Amino acid sequence: MAQTGWLRAAVLGANDGILSTASLVLGVAAAHGSRSSVLVAGVAGLVAGAMAMAAGEYVSVHSQADTEQADLALERAELKSDEKGEHAELAAIYVGRGLDAALARRVADDLMAHDALGAHARDELGIAEALRPRPIQAALASAASFAVGAGLPLIVTALAPTAALLIAVSTTSLLFLALLGALAARTGGAAMIPGALRVTFWGALAMGITTGVGAWFGTVV
Ligand SMILES: [Zn+2]
Repeated sequence: MAQTGWLRAAVLGANDGILSTASLVLGVAAAHGSRSSVLVAGVAGLVAGAMAMAAGEYVSVHSQADTEQADLALERAELKSDEKGEHAELAAIYVGRGLDAALARRVADDLMAHDALGAHARDELGIAEALRPRPIQAALASAASFAVGAGLPLIVTALAPTAALLIAVSTTSLLFLALLGALAARTGGAAMIPGALRVTFWGALAMGITTGVGAWFGTVV
């Protein structure tokens, strides 16, 4: 389960990297940018995107951990100050889930005798387990997967003949996106074709829009 979550985050990061960098490259190329200006824009986009992913992931993982810690601290204090009330509270939660009052009371008492804070964390707060959040690792992992994804359209940009740049970048990027979409669906146990089609459709739309805006802007500026 933890492994699927990690892989999912990596796939999403790579997906973002491919899509945003390919769109950026296409937009600049459509505005008649030279290959070197297209590449500079693409590399800047890679770095900026990786930084944004890292910062966003760090902040989100960190603030979620802070919220969970604060909730647990409050719960710990309540367990100390009002043990009886906490037994009744947990029993009421189980009644709400369908147990009769006597059984709910027994389950609450047994679980709290075993691990009172754990029982309240899980069934009252919805914190599955005391997982140790690692904001730095999460930040590095999403920055790295974004950079790997962003590298693919940049390699194509560097190698493709100038005349075929738009076609080469868009088709290979859609292919990469479809492969990643299929991989993500497969690791999630879902059907591969719809997963691949969905990501390809939205990717094509995003690239089409940025190419259009780039082409329009190229004639205006
Ligand atoms: Zn409680």
